Formats: sequence, C-alpha cells, structure tokens
Amino acid sequence: MAASLPPTRPRIPGSGLAKGLAVTLRTMTRKHGTEQYPDTLPELPPRTRGVIGLFEENCTVCMLCARECPDWCIYIDSHKETVPPAAPGGRERSRNVLDRFAIDFSLCMYCGICIEVCPFDALFWSPEFEYAETDIHELTHERDKLREWMWTVPAPPALDPGAEEPKEIAAARKTAEKLAAAAQAEAAQAEAARADGAPAGPEEGDA
Ligand code: SF4
Ligand code: SF4
Repeated sequence: MAASLPPTRPRIPGSGLAKGLAVTLRTMTRKHGTEQYPDTLPELPPRTRGVIGLFEENCTVCMLCARECPDWCIYIDSHKETVPPAAPGGRERSRNVLDRFAIDFSLCMYCGICIEVCPFDALFWSPEFEYAETDIHELTHERDKLREWMWTVPAPPALDPGAEEPKEIAAARKTAEKLAAAAQAEAAQAEAARADGAPAGPEEGDA
C-alpha cells in the first residue's frame, strides 16, 4: 500500500516577502565585522607583523637571516673593504660592505625567523601593511624601501621598574663614569699644582 503524504499547510500570500524583510532588518541592526577599507583604516595592534624594516647601520652582512629564512626570500650582496689599522703599527682589517638587501614579500610567510636570528638588531617588524602591488614582481623590496619602513617601527616598550639594566646601557654608563672620574682627577691635579705655585700648563708666549 502506498504511503500517504502529510497535508500541506495553506500558504499565506506575502509571507515569504515578510520573512525576507525580517532577515534584512535583523542583519541591518546587527554589529558587523566588515571593514570598509580603504575608506576606513583598520585599528591594528602596534606590534602587528606588517612588513620588515631594515636598520642597515647595524647589519654586518653576516648572512644569518638569509640562511635561516625558510623561503629563501632574502637576497643579500656585499663586497669586502680593507679598513686602515686603528692605531699606528696595527694590522689592516677587512669588513663586509652591504651592496644589496632585498626581501621578496610574495614568498615571505611572515614567520619572523630572520628578525629573531639577527644577532645585531638590524631587522624589525613594522605595522605598515599598505604595500600591495598588482604585479607580483614588484613585491621584492630593496634596501631603501626596507629602510623607509624602519622609521615606522614603534619604539620599544619601557622596561619594568625592577628590570635589570640592559648590558649596552650599563657598559655605556660605566665608560661615561670612568671618563668623568678621569676628568675630575685631572682638574683636581691642576688645581693642586696651582695652589702649590707651580705652573699648571704652558704660559702664553712660551717657546
Ligand atoms: S619573515 Fe620568515 S619568510 Fe619572511 S623573510 Fe623573514 S625568515 Fe623569510
Ligand atoms: S642577520 Fe642581521 S646582521 Fe646578519 S645579514 Fe641579516 S640583517 Fe644583517
């Protein structure tokens, strides 16, 4: 015996339209997450991984970042230069001079490994993100552009009040204290010599 179908409810004319309008109204009043970029710029956290900035004065061309990059998208060229000895009779030294530093952001996966491994603090995250291009080849950015982005890197957060003094600052402070103490001792010596009646230094007109 064939199963009988349940009786269909009679349709109220216009009920579909009313349901549709109800959905529209509900959606219009709900808070939405769509950002109207570029008319409205997103509010990003200050430490956003937008792009990588290069502080080339700190770069010693050690190549560590290029070697550790999982995507091999850091391109560095350099040459060697001979530096004259620091003191007379010393040995000449050679140093690497940066010729090219570029990152291909079409390959970069923003892992941050290059920034982590750089031993000389030459790479930083910048929150800048507006560098989309219509041609993928233009996503390889050279050192001038990476340097420009460096100035958009936010300042480091303040140290905790009880934190240990950074070793660079401690070393600079110790050197400044030593120089100040030496200058003070010299001034005291000159003062003592003047008090004893001895000439403190060559007089004007001395041969
Ligand atoms: S963030 Fe990662 S993928 Fe991008 S350049 Fe640095 S190491 Fe390479
Ligand atoms: S790791 Fe740092 S210092 Fe070494 S080449 Fe890369 S950016 Fe320069």
